[in-house]
Amino acid sequence: MLDFGSFKLPNGTPDHPHRGFETVSYMKKGTIYHEDFLGNKGVLEAGDCQWMTTGRGIVHSEMPGSWEEESRGFQLWINLAAKDKFCEPGYQEIKRDLIPTAKKDGVTAKVIAGESLETKGPIFARTPAFYLDVEMDKNTKFEQIIPKGWNAFSYVYEGEAHFSNTKVKVAQNRCVVLKKDDNDILVIETQNENAKFLLLAGKPLNEPIVSYGPFVLNTQEELLQAFEDYQHGKNGFENALAWKSQNRLMAKKN
Ligand code: MN
Repeated sequence: MLDFGSFKLPNGTPDHPHRGFETVSYMKKGTIYHEDFLGNKGVLEAGDCQWMTTGRGIVHSEMPGSWEEESRGFQLWINLAAKDKFCEPGYQEIKRDLIPTAKKDGVTAKVIAGESLETKGPIFARTPAFYLDVEMDKNTKFEQIIPKGWNAFSYVYEGEAHFSNTKVKVAQNRCVVLKKDDNDILVIETQNENAKFLLLAGKPLNEPIVSYGPFVLNTQEELLQAFEDYQHGKNGFENALAWKSQNRLMAKKN
């Protein structure tokens, strides 16, 4: 699931739970204040990325930092394999300046996870995944290797690009699913316009998915158990009953 959202106070996502997957928050504009029931807190600014493993349980809040200006960013949900769904929750956070950037022939690729243009990203992806933010000048060509058997998709957030393997041109605010074929090299070209897009790829888990709201599990029983654990503060949600974020007060002040 990929969400590209814009919001300012008093809107936001105050205290809510997650279980069974990872959320990747990547800011494009403004700030997001985050805080969780384990005591982690911080600020994501434009260009920063937070790769959160919810594992067996997280309760957190994600609130924009301004009443006037919209905060804008992507949130990708990556499923966890059954063997990882109940792991300890954790964070990998990288500030804008520490994201490796590869440049070649008019193409700039920020490599958050995976590999592009011989540059490797710093994130450890439990479910093997690539997360690239690519900018292409006009009339340029970009070749990206996708590991065999993986799925990939792209979201163009500015300009337009031609995805040769699908034979389609994709304009701003459009998404394209890039099916794998015998050739695992994606060829992306621009013509009269530049292009900015996320290129996301992952290894299919091929496991059943049962999800509702903030929980992503493998079976109906696990899903019901997640609601019960959250409501009763157990099996990873021990801090849920007593905890309230400070962030939520931001929306009430002023
Ligand atoms: Mn959340």
